[in-house]
Amino acid sequence: MKIAVCPGSFDPVTLGHLDIIQRATKLFDKVIILVMSNSLKHCAFTIDERIALLKKCVSNPAIEIDTYDGLLVDYAKQNGAVAIVKGLRAVSDFDYEFQQALINKSLFPEIETVFLTARSENMFLSSSMVKEVCSLGGDISPFVPKEIAKDIYLRCKGDN
Ligand code: ADP
Repeated sequence: MKIAVCPGSFDPVTLGHLDIIQRATKLFDKVIILVMSNSLKHCAFTIDERIALLKKCVSNPAIEIDTYDGLLVDYAKQNGAVAIVKGLRAVSDFDYEFQQALINKSLFPEIETVFLTARSENMFLSSSMVKEVCSLGGDISPFVPKEIAKDIYLRCKGDN
């Protein structure tokens, strides 16, 4: 069985993330969405809340949701994953993602990083953009799964 890991902050999950995850299920037998903490980011939702949001919008039995606060490659090793799947948006993602892929490869040579290109409509979609639009009173429904739009609105709405 070929297992892939899709790591990220998912703060909160967007339609861009879900598109990459669904497409990864066409390439692998099992896809694990790995919710990780990112010390560089201030998160709006706790890890448990982010997992709960993901669970509301994922029903495919080939997808599992997990969390880990150590090295991604250690998680991959322990869980028999052969690949890390990442979504690539604009060129701006490339530098960082390429660096991560090279580091992961040197830490665990058997792991492959697979990049899937974002759909054109998701090219500029990010969790931070969703939080920003929401806090300024904009409509986030085109960007996030309908099951969690209200949760995001309640957490991120501003005072306007
Ligand atoms: P991180 O904290 O690692 O940046 P994110 O939760 O922002 O995590 O993203 C996780 C993964 O999903 C990354 O590989 C990122 O490139 C990808 N991703 C995020 N938004 C989109 C999108 N709109 N379309 C495609 N891939 C995306």
